[in-house]
Amino acid sequence: MTELAEPAAPASLAMPERALPSPAFPPRLTLAEATRARNAWIEIDLEALDHNLAALRTAIGPGCETIVVVKGNAYGAGVEGVAPALEAAGVERFAVAWVSEAVQLRELGIRRPIIVLGHAFPEDAEAALAHDLTLTCHSLALGRALSAAAVRAGHTARVHIHIDSGLHRDGVSLEEGVALAEALRGLPALEIEGISTHMANADEPDDSFSDAQAALFRDATARLPWIPYRHTANSATALRRAGLRFEGVRLGLALHGVLPSNTPGPALRPILSVKARLARVSTIGAGEGVSYGLTWRASRESRTALVPVGYADGWSRHLGNRGEVLIGGRRCPMVGRVMMDQFVADVTDTPTAAEGDEAVLLGSQGNERITAGDVATAAGTIPWDTFAALTGRLPRIFHRQGVVERITGG
Ligand SMILES: *Cc1c(COP(=O)(O)O)cnc(C)c1O
Repeated sequence: MTELAEPAAPASLAMPERALPSPAFPPRLTLAEATRARNAWIEIDLEALDHNLAALRTAIGPGCETIVVVKGNAYGAGVEGVAPALEAAGVERFAVAWVSEAVQLRELGIRRPIIVLGHAFPEDAEAALAHDLTLTCHSLALGRALSAAAVRAGHTARVHIHIDSGLHRDGVSLEEGVALAEALRGLPALEIEGISTHMANADEPDDSFSDAQAALFRDATARLPWIPYRHTANSATALRRAGLRFEGVRLGLALHGVLPSNTPGPALRPILSVKARLARVSTIGAGEGVSYGLTWRASRESRTALVPVGYADGWSRHLGNRGEVLIGGRRCPMVGRVMMDQFVADVTDTPTAAEGDEAVLLGSQGNERITAGDVATAAGTIPWDTFAALTGRLPRIFHRQGVVERITGG
């Protein structure tokens, strides 16, 4: 016993081994309560996420697993809240880009198989075994390291082989893939479970190149018929091409309630909103400028609102003088350059706007809605980028029907 040790509680006052959960704890906050004193935040609607997953599974049909792609902090939505909700909703597998992202999923308690789609080094073999990760294996050196680590650990390492069928990004060519798979097959404690490819034009208006890629992939699978698990489809391919679903589809964007522009699909609900509270509302005279470089000048006496979100939050600088924000239920133009921590909106036509009012940068307010597509178009990019750019300074508030379940970051 050291002097710092707590004195033992008298037996009559001792706490039980485990405090029983009391219904009042944790307190259930409403979104309004949780956001009252926050500059800006992201709301994630977990009910919409459940809805999207169910709708996508129905559209894709039985006999095909859902591999949820939660790389890049679950496309900015916050993997700590999104991944457990998806596992609870019954998805079969997870996929990420980095080994470290897969380790993070295990640390969050995710039990389902996790495929690492991106590059791994032989040095990652120990972590792959320790956390039961499924690596994409592009080399014999990686396969050997995994096999050796698996023998040491006394269990089996699982790998997938990724065929480059024309995207010319990652993976191995058809011939290399067949040779690699046959060579890996001879290594102890290594299971070649899966074979995959990725489409180059899935999200383009003309996705016919997918036919050529699919033919090459079918050639590979015909030569490696002993590999049981095949996957080729992202959101667009999964919805547009029933013949390319194979054993599992890799769903990212569609889970967020956004479909690639070329892709018809079931009715989905956006899961993510970005909101802020106006920090300041002021009046400037005609001819006066706003923000660095004074790139916007008021054509009349104007009311300006300071929105405390900037490019340090992932709100693109390209939105300056182009984007919009909802204030008082109206679309208000973003004026001047986006700064690191704030931007300015013109609220001259929304005379009630006042400090503390809620501004919606992405999402709905009253009858208006700003979609991820709207933001992406204004910024000259794509919804994937708009989501993935959202940084850790913005807290993620996970809720169902406005009742907060979890708050992370911020
Ligand atoms: C990111 C990614 C996906 C998910 O794509 P979505 O279009 O967001 O559904 C699927 N497969 C691979 C290989 C990816 O890198």
